[in-house]
Amino acid sequence: MRGKIVKGIAGFYYVHIVESGVYECKAKGVFRKEGQKPLVGDDVEIDILEKTEKTGNIVRIFPRKNALTRPAVANVDQAMVVFAVTKPKPHFNLLDRFLVMMESKGVPAILCFNKKDIADDLRIQELREIYGRCGYPILFSSARKKENIEEIKALLKGKTTVVAGPSGVGKSSIINLLQSDITMETGEISRKIDRGRHTTRHSELIAVDKDSYIMDTPGFSSLYVNEFEKEELKYYFTEFSPYEGHCKYNGCVHVHEPGCAVKEALERGEIHRIRYGNYLDMYNELQQKRRF
Ligand code: GDP
Ligand code: ZN
Repeated sequence: MRGKIVKGIAGFYYVHIVESGVYECKAKGVFRKEGQKPLVGDDVEIDILEKTEKTGNIVRIFPRKNALTRPAVANVDQAMVVFAVTKPKPHFNLLDRFLVMMESKGVPAILCFNKKDIADDLRIQELREIYGRCGYPILFSSARKKENIEEIKALLKGKTTVVAGPSGVGKSSIINLLQSDITMETGEISRKIDRGRHTTRHSELIAVDKDSYIMDTPGFSSLYVNEFEKEELKYYFTEFSPYEGHCKYNGCVHVHEPGCAVKEALERGEIHRIRYGNYLDMYNELQQKRRF
């Protein structure tokens, strides 16, 4: 049987098989000797030991597409970042850091701005203006009024998505609405996963549809710490790319150099000043070799 590891606790792996639920498994077999450690998100083959108790052995791990370390999860297709349109106001610096981290890992990002029910149109327009031009899919939802939840589901369909966001934006409310009736029960523990206000301590995938999984990532600001050279940062601001190669100096980092095409685009209003400001902020941090 083929399934997906949705959770790992104390040497047990919980493998979700779409048709029949979650099996409690041990990792056996040759791949252990090869130094391969199963990860949440891994697609695996299991031998079923006991059908009613839903236990089995993992006998094979299918090749991984990728793996993140924080959170530890394999085969991530995309990341959805949730902010509120207002209450709390979006923290653009934090949002841009998240986008940079995802760009640096090659994970496509989706932006979800929640609480559209209490937002004014100008605010929504501004967010569209800033992030629409960066090429990210952007959604405005209301968990309270159940608006655009189906649109979110459509973007998650058939994928494994990491969901992140600062607290208070309605992330748990959205995740509660996304949870499907697909059985995620093990033979031993029969329970409805209650996200509530609790933060998960270990990585866990939640099935939201057949072949669609999300991982709620607790915390936020310190989650995606990564280190790369400051010269690389510009490549993670996708809206700079049309101007790359048009600056006066080769290797222009778009900070102090004269004849900089990115700064000219900024002057013309083609690059948003908030985004550029956050670029400078992160560039300075990288220069000081501080982590962010
Ligand atoms: P989390 O901390 O991001 O997981 O946020 P919660 O889901 O716990 O929601 C935080 C607060 O925002 C709660 O009081 C929710 O009732 C409220 N909330 C969540 N979604 C919405 C929404 O779409 N509109 C409004 N007005 N409030 C919301
Ligand atoms: Zn430049």
